[in-house]
Amino acid sequence: MVIRALAGAAVAGAITAGARKTRTLSESGQWAAFFSGILAAAAGWWWAALLIAFFVTSAALSRWRLHEKMQKTEGTLPRATERNAGQVIANGGFFVLFAFGAQYTGNERLAFAALGALAAASADTWSTEIGMLFGGTPRLITTGKATQTGMSGGVSAAGFGAGIAGALFIALAGAFAIPHHHARLAVAAFAGGFGGCLADSLIGATLQSKRFCDRCHHWTERRVHACGYRTRHARGINWLSNDAVNLCGTFAGAVISVLAGWMMAR
Ligand SMILES: [Zn+2]
Repeated sequence: MVIRALAGAAVAGAITAGARKTRTLSESGQWAAFFSGILAAAAGWWWAALLIAFFVTSAALSRWRLHEKMQKTEGTLPRATERNAGQVIANGGFFVLFAFGAQYTGNERLAFAALGALAAASADTWSTEIGMLFGGTPRLITTGKATQTGMSGGVSAAGFGAGIAGALFIALAGAFAIPHHHARLAVAAFAGGFGGCLADSLIGATLQSKRFCDRCHHWTERRVHACGYRTRHARGINWLSNDAVNLCGTFAGAVISVLAGWMMAR
């Protein structure tokens, strides 16, 4: 384990330094990703490889046509391109904890949980990035009402398709990589990935904090609106940020994956 952790530190150090240089990660995000990488490598080579696969595809999708997406979400989302520690932990935190737990307790349920959590993070990232570009006007998952591009809880057909692809990508890669119960693990992780992504949208539409700009009469997730006016908290739970919702989504993915795996084993 010590050797894997040291090798993990070297690889994670190189990858996160590159991500910092290309402004994919902020300084705090770089540290969080570095320690996540070490923990994943300590859990096993394949867990680390899965984390890298998730990180590289997510970063590439996020960077793809970035300026177009920033223009579309100008009034809705903060103008930050670098992922900070909160975002890194929200996406990968449960995955590395469960993967580490799976390796050192030998409990197969934790392996199902880890893969479900990562599949949910992947589904959510792919659906968000693709949905913003090709989804047209998103609609709230709860009421079907049209909403602004980038607002949490908004869904589109393109976003759904990308979410399915993102969950499938991690489910298949994981099922090949992790020994035992291949087919069952792939199906369970896929269910967790898509279910977690749905949970993310549902919580995003209902409980997540939404803000309002009294000057432009616009709903937004920005504290300071694009117009420079300070926005006010108007709906949802004030502290329930997008990161907290993402964390809930990956946890839901873990739980659904474990339940699906358990039901198939019966
Ligand atoms: Zn405004």
